[in-house]
Amino acid sequence: MTQADTAGYPQSWYTATMIPTPARPALASDLDVEVCVIGGGLAGLTTAREVARRGWSVAVLEAGRLAGSASGRNTGFVLPGFAADEDKLIARVGFERTKDLWSLSEMGLDYVRDTIAAEGADGIEPQHGWLYVSKFDNGAEILRLSKLLGQLGCDVEYWPTERVRAFLHSERYFHAVNHVQAIAIHPLNYALKLAAAAERDGARIFENTQALSIDPAGVRKRIVTPNARLRATQVVLAGNVQIKGVVPRLAATLIPVTTYVITTPPLGPRLAEAVAYRGAVSDSDRADNHYRVVGGDHLMWLGRSTVWQRNPRRYVDALTDDIAKTYPQLGKVEVDYAWAGTLGNTVHRMPQIGELAPGVWLASGFGGHGLNTTAMAGNLIARALVDGDQAWRQFTPFELVWAGGLMGRAVVQMRTLVKRFLDAQRERRTRSRDGVVQQARKRDAQAAQPGAGQADADSIVPHESGTEAVRSQ
Ligand SMILES: Cc1cc2nc3c(=O)[nH]c(=O)nc-3n(C[C@H](O)[C@H](O)[C@H](O)COP(=O)(O)OP(=O)(O)OC[C@H]3O[C@@H](n4cnc5c(N)ncnc54)[C@H](O)[C@@H]3O)c2cc1C
Repeated sequence: MTQADTAGYPQSWYTATMIPTPARPALASDLDVEVCVIGGGLAGLTTAREVARRGWSVAVLEAGRLAGSASGRNTGFVLPGFAADEDKLIARVGFERTKDLWSLSEMGLDYVRDTIAAEGADGIEPQHGWLYVSKFDNGAEILRLSKLLGQLGCDVEYWPTERVRAFLHSERYFHAVNHVQAIAIHPLNYALKLAAAAERDGARIFENTQALSIDPAGVRKRIVTPNARLRATQVVLAGNVQIKGVVPRLAATLIPVTTYVITTPPLGPRLAEAVAYRGAVSDSDRADNHYRVVGGDHLMWLGRSTVWQRNPRRYVDALTDDIAKTYPQLGKVEVDYAWAGTLGNTVHRMPQIGELAPGVWLASGFGGHGLNTTAMAGNLIARALVDGDQAWRQFTPFELVWAGGLMGRAVVQMRTLVKRFLDAQRERRTRSRDGVVQQARKRDAQAAQPGAGQADADSIVPHESGTEAVRSQ
Protein backbone atom coordinates (compact mmCIF):
# COMPACT_ATOMS: atom_id res chain seq x y z
CA MET A 1 0.00 0.00 0.00
CA THR A 2 1.21 3.56 -0.76
CA GLN A 3 2.56 5.29 2.35
CA ALA A 4 1.72 8.86 3.30
CA ASP A 5 4.70 10.97 2.21
CA THR A 6 4.49 13.80 4.74
CA ALA A 7 7.67 15.67 3.76
CA GLY A 8 6.91 19.35 3.23
CA TYR A 9 3.72 19.37 5.32
CA PRO A 10 3.59 21.11 8.71
CA GLN A 11 3.39 19.06 11.91
CA SER A 12 -0.34 19.05 12.47
CA TRP A 13 -3.21 16.80 13.42
CA TYR A 14 -4.01 16.55 9.73
CA THR A 15 -0.51 15.49 8.69
CA ALA A 16 -0.46 12.93 11.49
CA THR A 17 -3.72 11.42 10.21
CA MET A 18 -3.05 11.83 6.49
CA ILE A 19 -4.25 9.06 4.16
CA PRO A 20 -1.57 7.10 2.23
CA THR A 21 -0.81 9.13 -0.85
CA PRO A 22 2.09 9.31 -3.29
CA ALA A 23 4.17 12.45 -3.77
CA ARG A 24 3.66 13.82 -7.28
CA PRO A 25 6.74 14.48 -9.47
CA ALA A 26 8.01 17.92 -10.36
CA LEU A 27 7.54 19.04 -13.97
CA ALA A 28 10.71 17.90 -15.70
CA SER A 29 10.00 18.33 -19.42
CA ASP A 30 8.05 20.83 -21.54
CA LEU A 31 4.33 20.24 -21.79
CA ASP A 32 1.39 21.56 -23.83
CA VAL A 33 -2.11 21.56 -22.33
CA GLU A 34 -5.40 23.37 -22.80
CA VAL A 35 -5.54 24.59 -19.18
CA CYS A 36 -2.74 25.31 -16.71
CA VAL A 37 -3.84 25.74 -13.10
CA ILE A 38 -1.34 27.51 -10.84
CA GLY A 39 -1.84 26.43 -7.22
CA GLY A 40 -2.66 23.00 -5.81
CA GLY A 41 -4.95 24.08 -2.98
CA LEU A 42 -8.69 23.39 -2.97
CA ALA A 43 -9.45 26.09 -5.56
CA GLY A 44 -6.87 24.75 -8.04
CA LEU A 45 -7.65 21.09 -7.48
CA THR A 46 -11.41 21.56 -7.87
CA THR A 47 -10.90 23.55 -11.06
CA ALA A 48 -8.56 20.89 -12.46
CA ARG A 49 -10.89 18.05 -11.62
CA GLU A 50 -13.89 19.76 -13.20
CA VAL A 51 -11.94 20.70 -16.34
CA ALA A 52 -10.58 17.14 -16.68
CA ARG A 53 -14.05 15.68 -16.14
CA ARG A 54 -15.23 17.69 -19.13
CA GLY A 55 -12.54 16.12 -21.29
CA TRP A 56 -10.00 18.97 -21.60
CA SER A 57 -6.29 18.49 -20.90
CA VAL A 58 -5.19 20.20 -17.70
CA ALA A 59 -2.02 20.46 -15.60
CA VAL A 60 -1.71 21.70 -12.01
CA LEU A 61 1.53 23.36 -10.90
CA GLU A 62 2.00 23.39 -7.13
CA ALA A 63 5.05 25.15 -5.65
CA GLY A 64 5.08 22.94 -2.54
CA ARG A 65 2.87 19.99 -1.57
CA LEU A 66 -0.80 19.58 -2.52
CA ALA A 67 -3.00 21.44 0.00
CA GLY A 68 0.15 22.16 2.01
CA SER A 69 -1.04 25.72 2.72
CA ALA A 70 -4.43 27.00 3.92
CA SER A 71 -6.35 24.18 2.24
CA GLY A 72 -4.74 21.47 4.36
CA ARG A 73 -4.40 23.45 7.59
CA ASN A 74 -7.88 24.85 8.23
CA THR A 75 -10.48 23.73 10.77
CA GLY A 76 -12.49 21.99 8.06
CA PHE A 77 -15.87 23.75 8.48
CA VAL A 78 -17.77 23.47 5.20
CA LEU A 79 -20.47 26.10 5.53
CA PRO A 80 -22.90 27.89 3.26
CA GLY A 81 -22.35 31.59 2.49
CA PHE A 82 -19.26 33.76 2.26
CA ALA A 83 -16.78 35.55 4.48
CA ALA A 84 -18.81 38.73 3.78
CA ASP A 85 -21.54 39.54 6.26
CA GLU A 86 -25.07 38.89 4.85
CA ASP A 87 -26.35 42.37 5.73
CA LYS A 88 -23.41 44.06 4.00
CA LEU A 89 -23.92 41.89 0.94
CA ILE A 90 -27.60 42.83 0.76
CA ALA A 91 -26.70 46.51 1.14
CA ARG A 92 -24.22 46.18 -1.73
CA VAL A 93 -26.09 44.09 -4.32
CA GLY A 94 -29.68 43.84 -3.04
CA PHE A 95 -31.62 40.95 -1.55
CA GLU A 96 -32.38 38.98 -4.74
CA ARG A 97 -28.77 38.98 -5.97
CA THR A 98 -27.58 38.04 -2.49
CA LYS A 99 -30.00 35.12 -2.55
CA ASP A 100 -28.60 33.99 -5.92
CA LEU A 101 -25.05 34.24 -4.59
CA TRP A 102 -26.06 32.24 -1.53
CA SER A 103 -27.44 29.47 -3.63
CA LEU A 104 -24.11 29.32 -5.51
CA SER A 105 -22.33 29.10 -2.15
CA GLU A 106 -24.61 26.21 -1.17
CA MET A 107 -23.76 24.54 -4.47
CA GLY A 108 -20.15 24.57 -3.22
CA LEU A 109 -21.17 22.86 0.01
CA ASP A 110 -23.21 20.27 -1.92
CA TYR A 111 -20.24 19.65 -4.21
CA VAL A 112 -18.00 18.81 -1.25
CA ARG A 113 -20.65 16.52 0.21
CA ASP A 114 -21.22 14.75 -3.13
CA THR A 115 -17.49 14.34 -3.73
CA ILE A 116 -17.09 12.72 -0.32
CA ALA A 117 -20.01 10.40 -1.07
CA ALA A 118 -18.41 9.42 -4.39
CA GLU A 119 -14.79 9.11 -3.23
CA GLY A 120 -15.44 7.56 0.19
CA ALA A 121 -15.61 9.22 3.60
CA ASP A 122 -12.78 7.25 5.22
CA GLY A 123 -10.11 9.65 6.40
CA ILE A 124 -12.40 12.64 5.80
CA GLU A 125 -14.78 11.73 8.65
CA PRO A 126 -17.53 14.31 8.01
CA GLN A 127 -19.30 15.62 11.10
CA HIS A 128 -22.70 17.23 10.81
CA GLY A 129 -23.88 20.70 11.74
CA TRP A 130 -22.36 24.07 12.63
CA LEU A 131 -23.45 25.90 15.73
CA TYR A 132 -22.88 29.65 15.58
CA VAL A 133 -23.28 30.59 19.21
CA SER A 134 -23.49 33.95 20.96
CA LYS A 135 -21.56 34.97 24.06
CA PHE A 136 -24.14 37.71 24.69
CA ASP A 137 -27.74 37.43 25.83
CA ASN A 138 -29.01 38.80 22.50
CA GLY A 139 -31.86 36.44 21.60
CA ALA A 140 -33.62 38.98 19.36
CA GLU A 141 -30.46 39.55 17.30
CA ILE A 142 -29.83 35.83 16.84
CA LEU A 143 -33.47 35.16 16.01
CA ARG A 144 -33.33 37.91 13.36
CA LEU A 145 -30.14 36.41 11.90
CA SER A 146 -31.73 32.99 11.80
CA LYS A 147 -34.80 34.35 9.98
CA LEU A 148 -32.66 36.25 7.48
CA LEU A 149 -30.61 33.13 6.72
CA GLY A 150 -33.85 31.20 6.25
CA GLN A 151 -35.05 33.84 3.75
CA LEU A 152 -31.79 33.42 1.86
CA GLY A 153 -32.62 29.73 1.51
CA CYS A 154 -30.35 28.38 4.23
CA ASP A 155 -31.48 25.42 6.38
CA VAL A 156 -31.08 26.79 9.93
CA GLU A 157 -32.62 26.45 13.38
CA TYR A 158 -32.67 29.03 16.12
CA TRP A 159 -31.53 27.50 19.43
CA PRO A 160 -32.44 29.23 22.69
CA THR A 161 -29.92 29.34 25.57
CA GLU A 162 -31.22 26.22 27.37
CA ARG A 163 -30.82 24.10 24.25
CA VAL A 164 -27.35 25.49 23.56
CA ARG A 165 -26.22 24.77 27.12
CA ALA A 166 -27.58 21.22 26.92
CA PHE A 167 -24.95 20.58 24.20
CA LEU A 168 -22.20 23.06 25.11
CA HIS A 169 -21.76 23.05 28.87
CA SER A 170 -20.50 26.59 29.16
CA GLU A 171 -22.01 29.52 31.02
CA ARG A 172 -20.41 31.81 28.44
CA TYR A 173 -22.99 30.77 25.89
CA PHE A 174 -26.49 31.97 25.12
CA HIS A 175 -28.45 31.74 21.87
CA ALA A 176 -27.28 30.09 18.65
CA VAL A 177 -28.04 29.41 15.01
CA ASN A 178 -27.67 25.74 14.09
CA HIS A 179 -26.73 25.24 10.43
CA VAL A 180 -28.21 21.84 9.76
CA GLN A 181 -26.59 21.12 6.39
CA ALA A 182 -23.05 22.25 7.26
CA ILE A 183 -20.33 19.65 7.72
CA ALA A 184 -16.82 19.57 9.14
CA ILE A 185 -14.14 17.50 7.40
CA HIS A 186 -10.46 16.52 7.36
CA PRO A 187 -9.57 19.05 4.65
CA LEU A 188 -6.15 17.63 3.77
CA ASN A 189 -7.52 14.15 3.10
CA TYR A 190 -10.43 15.65 1.18
CA ALA A 191 -7.97 17.57 -1.03
CA LEU A 192 -5.87 14.45 -1.60
CA LYS A 193 -8.93 12.47 -2.66
CA LEU A 194 -9.94 15.32 -4.94
CA ALA A 195 -6.47 15.24 -6.53
CA ALA A 196 -6.71 11.47 -7.08
CA ALA A 197 -10.16 11.91 -8.67
CA ALA A 198 -8.80 14.64 -10.98
CA GLU A 199 -5.92 12.37 -12.04
CA ARG A 200 -8.33 9.52 -12.77
CA ASP A 201 -10.07 11.90 -15.16
CA GLY A 202 -6.77 12.75 -16.86
CA ALA A 203 -5.40 15.78 -14.99
CA ARG A 204 -1.59 15.98 -14.63
CA ILE A 205 -0.43 17.20 -11.22
CA PHE A 206 3.09 18.41 -10.41
CA GLU A 207 4.35 19.18 -6.91
CA ASN A 208 7.45 21.20 -5.99
CA THR A 209 6.95 23.07 -9.27
CA GLN A 210 6.70 26.80 -8.84
CA ALA A 211 5.43 28.92 -11.72
CA LEU A 212 8.21 31.49 -11.94
CA SER A 213 6.76 33.68 -14.68
CA ILE A 214 3.78 33.84 -17.00
CA ASP A 215 3.67 35.37 -20.44
CA PRO A 216 -0.08 35.91 -20.97
CA ALA A 217 0.21 37.42 -24.46
CA GLY A 218 -1.04 35.51 -27.48
CA VAL A 219 -3.27 32.50 -27.82
CA ARG A 220 -0.77 30.13 -26.19
CA LYS A 221 0.36 31.43 -22.78
CA ARG A 222 3.84 30.45 -21.64
CA ILE A 223 4.56 29.48 -18.04
CA VAL A 224 8.15 29.06 -16.90
CA THR A 225 8.98 26.65 -14.04
CA PRO A 226 12.46 25.80 -12.63
CA ASN A 227 13.06 22.80 -14.95
CA ALA A 228 10.60 23.03 -17.82
CA ARG A 229 8.13 25.22 -19.68
CA LEU A 230 4.43 24.77 -20.11
CA ARG A 231 2.18 26.16 -22.82
CA ALA A 232 -1.57 26.53 -22.31
CA THR A 233 -4.53 28.27 -23.95
CA GLN A 234 -6.05 29.09 -20.57
CA VAL A 235 -4.32 29.84 -17.27
CA VAL A 236 -6.13 29.75 -13.93
CA LEU A 237 -4.42 31.61 -11.08
CA ALA A 238 -5.38 29.80 -7.86
CA GLY A 239 -2.34 30.69 -5.75
CA ASN A 240 -3.95 32.57 -2.84
CA VAL A 241 -1.52 34.96 -1.08
CA GLN A 242 1.51 32.99 -2.34
CA ILE A 243 0.75 34.13 -5.90
CA LYS A 244 2.86 37.11 -4.86
CA GLY A 245 5.91 35.33 -6.28
CA VAL A 246 4.55 35.43 -9.84
CA VAL A 247 1.86 38.16 -9.97
CA PRO A 248 2.64 40.65 -7.16
CA ARG A 249 -0.11 43.07 -8.24
CA LEU A 250 -2.75 40.42 -7.62
CA ALA A 251 -1.34 39.54 -4.22
CA ALA A 252 -1.60 43.24 -3.33
CA THR A 253 -5.40 42.88 -3.43
CA LEU A 254 -5.29 40.39 -0.53
CA ILE A 255 -4.56 40.91 3.14
CA PRO A 256 -2.71 37.84 4.42
CA VAL A 257 -4.12 36.81 7.78
CA THR A 258 -2.42 34.05 9.74
CA THR A 259 -4.44 32.13 12.30
CA TYR A 260 -3.40 29.48 14.82
CA VAL A 261 -4.77 26.01 15.53
CA ILE A 262 -4.09 23.50 18.31
CA THR A 263 -5.17 19.92 18.98
CA THR A 264 -5.15 18.29 22.39
CA PRO A 265 -4.17 14.74 23.33
CA PRO A 266 -7.14 12.42 24.06
CA LEU A 267 -9.22 14.02 26.82
CA GLY A 268 -11.38 10.97 27.56
CA PRO A 269 -15.04 11.16 28.61
CA ARG A 270 -14.63 14.58 30.26
CA LEU A 271 -14.51 16.16 26.78
CA ALA A 272 -18.01 14.92 25.90
CA GLU A 273 -19.19 16.20 29.29
CA ALA A 274 -18.12 19.70 28.20
CA VAL A 275 -18.72 19.59 24.42
CA ALA A 276 -21.59 17.25 23.59
CA TYR A 277 -22.25 18.82 20.16
CA ARG A 278 -20.66 16.68 17.46
CA GLY A 279 -20.43 19.26 14.66
CA ALA A 280 -18.44 22.48 14.38
CA VAL A 281 -18.78 25.40 16.78
CA SER A 282 -17.94 29.11 16.42
CA ASP A 283 -18.52 31.75 19.04
CA SER A 284 -17.20 34.79 17.20
CA ASP A 285 -17.07 36.36 13.74
CA ARG A 286 -13.34 36.87 14.09
CA ALA A 287 -10.61 34.23 13.95
CA ASP A 288 -11.31 33.27 17.58
CA ASN A 289 -12.84 30.21 19.19
CA HIS A 290 -13.76 27.98 16.27
CA TYR A 291 -13.56 24.38 17.41
CA ARG A 292 -14.73 20.80 17.17
CA VAL A 293 -14.06 17.38 18.62
CA VAL A 294 -11.81 15.25 16.37
CA GLY A 295 -10.69 11.62 16.56
CA GLY A 296 -13.28 10.79 19.23
CA ASP A 297 -11.90 12.75 22.19
CA HIS A 298 -9.36 15.32 20.97
CA LEU A 299 -10.29 18.98 20.91
CA MET A 300 -9.25 21.07 17.89
CA TRP A 301 -9.35 24.80 18.60
CA LEU A 302 -8.58 27.81 16.38
CA GLY A 303 -7.97 31.34 17.53
CA ARG A 304 -5.95 34.54 17.33
CA SER A 305 -4.89 36.17 14.10
CA THR A 306 -1.93 38.21 12.94
CA VAL A 307 -1.20 39.95 9.68
CA TRP A 308 2.40 38.73 9.89
CA GLN A 309 3.09 35.02 10.35
CA ARG A 310 4.38 34.03 13.78
CA ASN A 311 5.57 30.81 15.39
CA PRO A 312 2.38 28.91 16.36
CA ARG A 313 3.98 27.83 19.66
CA ARG A 314 3.71 31.46 20.79
CA TYR A 315 -0.09 31.13 20.79
CA VAL A 316 -0.47 27.85 22.64
CA ASP A 317 -0.88 29.55 26.00
CA ALA A 318 -3.45 32.04 24.73
CA LEU A 319 -5.48 29.29 23.05
CA THR A 320 -5.45 26.95 26.05
CA ASP A 321 -6.51 29.93 28.18
CA ASP A 322 -9.43 30.49 25.79
CA ILE A 323 -10.44 26.84 26.23
CA ALA A 324 -10.23 27.08 30.04
CA LYS A 325 -12.24 30.30 30.00
CA THR A 326 -15.00 28.69 27.95
CA TYR A 327 -14.90 25.27 29.61
CA PRO A 328 -13.40 25.69 33.10
CA GLN A 329 -14.28 22.03 33.79
CA LEU A 330 -11.53 21.00 31.29
CA GLY A 331 -8.88 23.06 33.08
CA LYS A 332 -5.67 23.96 31.28
CA VAL A 333 -5.36 21.28 28.58
CA GLU A 334 -2.16 19.84 27.11
CA VAL A 335 -1.41 20.35 23.43
CA ASP A 336 -0.14 17.74 20.95
CA TYR A 337 -0.06 19.85 17.79
CA ALA A 338 0.10 23.60 17.13
CA TRP A 339 0.23 25.01 13.62
CA ALA A 340 -0.47 28.17 11.65
CA GLY A 341 -2.14 28.81 8.31
CA THR A 342 -2.49 31.91 6.16
CA LEU A 343 -5.64 32.93 4.37
CA GLY A 344 -6.20 35.78 1.93
CA ASN A 345 -8.89 38.34 2.74
CA THR A 346 -10.23 40.75 0.14
CA VAL A 347 -11.36 44.22 1.11
CA HIS A 348 -15.02 43.40 0.36
CA ARG A 349 -14.67 39.89 1.87
CA MET A 350 -16.02 38.27 -1.31
CA PRO A 351 -14.00 35.88 -3.49
CA GLN A 352 -12.28 37.06 -6.66
CA ILE A 353 -13.62 34.93 -9.51
CA GLY A 354 -13.41 35.84 -13.17
CA GLU A 355 -11.44 36.39 -16.36
CA LEU A 356 -8.73 39.04 -15.91
CA ALA A 357 -7.60 39.08 -19.54
CA PRO A 358 -8.38 36.78 -22.48
CA GLY A 359 -7.48 33.28 -21.29
CA VAL A 360 -6.28 34.36 -17.82
CA TRP A 361 -8.61 33.46 -14.95
CA LEU A 362 -8.54 34.15 -11.24
CA ALA A 363 -9.89 32.03 -8.35
CA SER A 364 -8.76 33.65 -5.13
CA GLY A 365 -9.63 35.69 -2.01
CA PHE A 366 -11.75 33.08 -0.23
CA GLY A 367 -10.80 34.36 3.21
CA GLY A 368 -11.79 32.23 6.18
CA HIS A 369 -14.75 30.81 4.27
CA GLY A 370 -12.98 28.86 1.56
CA LEU A 371 -14.14 25.28 1.81
CA ASN A 372 -17.47 25.78 0.06
CA THR A 373 -16.40 28.80 -2.00
CA THR A 374 -13.29 27.15 -3.52
CA ALA A 375 -15.54 24.27 -4.63
CA MET A 376 -18.01 26.77 -6.07
CA ALA A 377 -15.27 28.75 -7.85
CA GLY A 378 -13.64 25.64 -9.34
CA ASN A 379 -16.99 24.61 -10.78
CA LEU A 380 -17.85 28.07 -12.10
CA ILE A 381 -14.50 28.47 -13.84
CA ALA A 382 -14.48 24.97 -15.35
CA ARG A 383 -18.02 25.54 -16.65
CA ALA A 384 -17.01 28.91 -18.08
CA LEU A 385 -13.92 27.50 -19.82
CA VAL A 386 -15.41 24.40 -21.33
CA ASP A 387 -19.12 25.16 -21.67
CA GLY A 388 -19.03 28.96 -21.99
CA ASP A 389 -21.26 29.25 -18.92
CA GLN A 390 -21.57 32.82 -17.64
CA ALA A 391 -22.64 32.22 -14.02
CA TRP A 392 -19.22 33.49 -12.80
CA ARG A 393 -20.31 36.98 -13.86
CA GLN A 394 -22.38 37.18 -10.68
CA PHE A 395 -19.06 37.97 -8.99
CA THR A 396 -18.22 40.96 -11.20
CA PRO A 397 -19.54 43.47 -8.61
CA PHE A 398 -16.63 42.36 -6.41
CA GLU A 399 -13.76 43.81 -8.36
CA LEU A 400 -10.07 43.76 -7.46
CA VAL A 401 -9.40 46.37 -4.80
CA TRP A 402 -5.92 47.23 -3.57
CA ALA A 403 -5.71 46.06 0.05
CA GLY A 404 -3.60 49.00 1.26
CA GLY A 405 -0.17 47.36 1.52
CA LEU A 406 1.53 47.43 4.92
CA MET A 407 -0.80 50.17 6.14
CA GLY A 408 -3.82 48.02 5.19
CA ARG A 409 -2.42 45.15 7.25
CA ALA A 410 -1.79 47.40 10.24
CA VAL A 411 -5.36 48.70 10.06
CA VAL A 412 -6.74 45.15 9.97
CA GLN A 413 -4.65 44.11 12.97
CA MET A 414 -5.82 47.18 14.89
CA ARG A 415 -9.48 46.52 13.98
CA THR A 416 -9.15 42.93 15.20
CA LEU A 417 -7.77 44.09 18.53
CA VAL A 418 -10.47 46.75 18.95
CA LYS A 419 -13.24 44.26 18.06
CA ARG A 420 -11.85 41.71 20.52
CA PHE A 421 -11.76 44.38 23.24
CA LEU A 422 -15.34 45.53 22.50
CA ASP A 423 -16.62 41.94 22.48
CA ALA A 424 -14.93 41.27 25.83
CA GLN A 425 -16.57 44.40 27.29
CA ARG A 426 -19.97 43.32 26.00
CA GLU A 427 -19.50 39.80 27.33
CA ARG A 428 -18.47 41.20 30.72
CA ARG A 429 -21.62 43.31 30.88
CA THR A 430 -23.75 40.29 29.88
CA ARG A 431 -22.13 38.10 32.50
CA SER A 432 -22.41 40.57 35.34
CA ARG A 433 -26.07 41.14 34.46
CA ASP A 434 -26.55 37.37 34.25
CA GLY A 435 -24.90 37.00 37.68
CA VAL A 436 -27.20 39.61 39.19
CA VAL A 437 -30.31 37.94 37.73
CA GLN A 438 -29.28 34.50 38.96
CA GLN A 439 -28.55 35.80 42.41
CA ALA A 440 -31.89 37.65 42.50
CA ARG A 441 -33.63 34.37 41.58
CA LYS A 442 -31.71 32.59 44.32
CA ARG A 443 -32.64 35.32 46.80
CA ASP A 444 -36.34 35.05 45.87
CA ALA A 445 -36.22 31.28 46.29
CA GLN A 446 -34.55 31.62 49.66
CA ALA A 447 -37.06 34.25 50.74
CA ALA A 448 -39.82 31.74 50.05
CA GLN A 449 -38.13 29.16 52.38
CA PRO A 450 -38.81 28.89 56.14
CA GLY A 451 -36.22 30.98 58.08
CA ALA A 452 -36.25 33.56 55.35
CA GLY A 453 -34.28 36.07 57.49
CA GLN A 454 -31.10 34.34 56.19
CA ALA A 455 -31.81 35.79 52.75
CA ASP A 456 -30.99 39.31 53.95
CA ALA A 457 -27.52 38.24 55.01
CA ASP A 458 -26.98 36.67 51.57
CA SER A 459 -28.13 39.78 49.75
CA ILE A 460 -24.59 41.06 49.38
CA VAL A 461 -23.75 37.98 47.29
CA PRO A 462 -25.16 39.30 44.00
CA HIS A 463 -22.66 42.16 44.00
CA GLU A 464 -19.79 39.87 44.96
CA SER A 465 -20.78 37.39 42.33
CA GLY A 466 -21.10 40.10 39.70
CA THR A 467 -17.66 41.41 40.59
CA GLU A 468 -16.25 37.90 40.46
CA ALA A 469 -17.55 37.54 36.92
CA VAL A 470 -15.78 40.74 35.97
CA ARG A 471 -12.53 39.71 37.62
CA SER A 472 -12.50 36.34 35.94
CA GLN A 473 -12.18 37.98 32.49
C1 LIG B 1 -6.08 28.15 10.01
C2 LIG B 1 -7.18 28.31 8.98
C3 LIG B 1 -8.46 27.87 9.28
C4 LIG B 1 -9.48 27.99 8.33
N1 LIG B 1 -10.69 27.42 8.59
C5 LIG B 1 -11.64 27.39 7.62
C6 LIG B 1 -12.85 26.70 7.82
O1 LIG B 1 -13.05 26.04 8.85
N2 LIG B 1 -13.79 26.76 6.84
C7 LIG B 1 -13.58 27.45 5.67
O2 LIG B 1 -14.47 27.49 4.83
N3 LIG B 1 -12.40 28.07 5.42
C8 LIG B 1 -11.42 28.04 6.36
N4 LIG B 1 -10.22 28.64 6.12
C9 LIG B 1 -9.98 29.25 4.79
C10 LIG B 1 -9.64 28.22 3.71
O3 LIG B 1 -8.71 27.29 4.22
C11 LIG B 1 -9.05 28.95 2.49
O4 LIG B 1 -9.90 29.99 2.09
C12 LIG B 1 -8.88 28.00 1.32
O5 LIG B 1 -8.22 26.82 1.69
C13 LIG B 1 -8.10 28.71 0.21
O6 LIG B 1 -7.81 27.77 -0.80
P1 LIG B 1 -6.90 28.17 -2.03
O7 LIG B 1 -6.81 27.01 -2.91
O8 LIG B 1 -7.39 29.46 -2.60
O9 LIG B 1 -5.49 28.55 -1.38
P2 LIG B 1 -4.32 27.68 -0.73
O10 LIG B 1 -4.81 26.54 0.01
O11 LIG B 1 -3.45 28.66 -0.01
O12 LIG B 1 -3.54 27.12 -1.98
C14 LIG B 1 -2.82 27.95 -2.86
C15 LIG B 1 -1.66 27.12 -3.39
O13 LIG B 1 -1.06 27.81 -4.48
C16 LIG B 1 0.31 27.51 -4.46
N5 LIG B 1 1.01 28.53 -5.25
C17 LIG B 1 1.01 29.88 -5.07
N6 LIG B 1 1.79 30.49 -5.97
C18 LIG B 1 2.28 29.51 -6.78
C19 LIG B 1 3.16 29.50 -7.91
N7 LIG B 1 3.70 30.63 -8.39
N8 LIG B 1 3.44 28.32 -8.50
C20 LIG B 1 2.90 27.15 -8.04
N9 LIG B 1 2.08 27.11 -6.96
C21 LIG B 1 1.78 28.27 -6.33
C22 LIG B 1 0.67 27.54 -2.99
O14 LIG B 1 1.86 26.82 -2.74
C23 LIG B 1 -0.56 26.92 -2.36
O15 LIG B 1 -0.40 25.54 -2.12
C24 LIG B 1 -9.21 28.59 7.06
C25 LIG B 1 -7.93 29.06 6.78
C26 LIG B 1 -6.91 28.93 7.72
C27 LIG B 1 -5.54 29.42 7.39
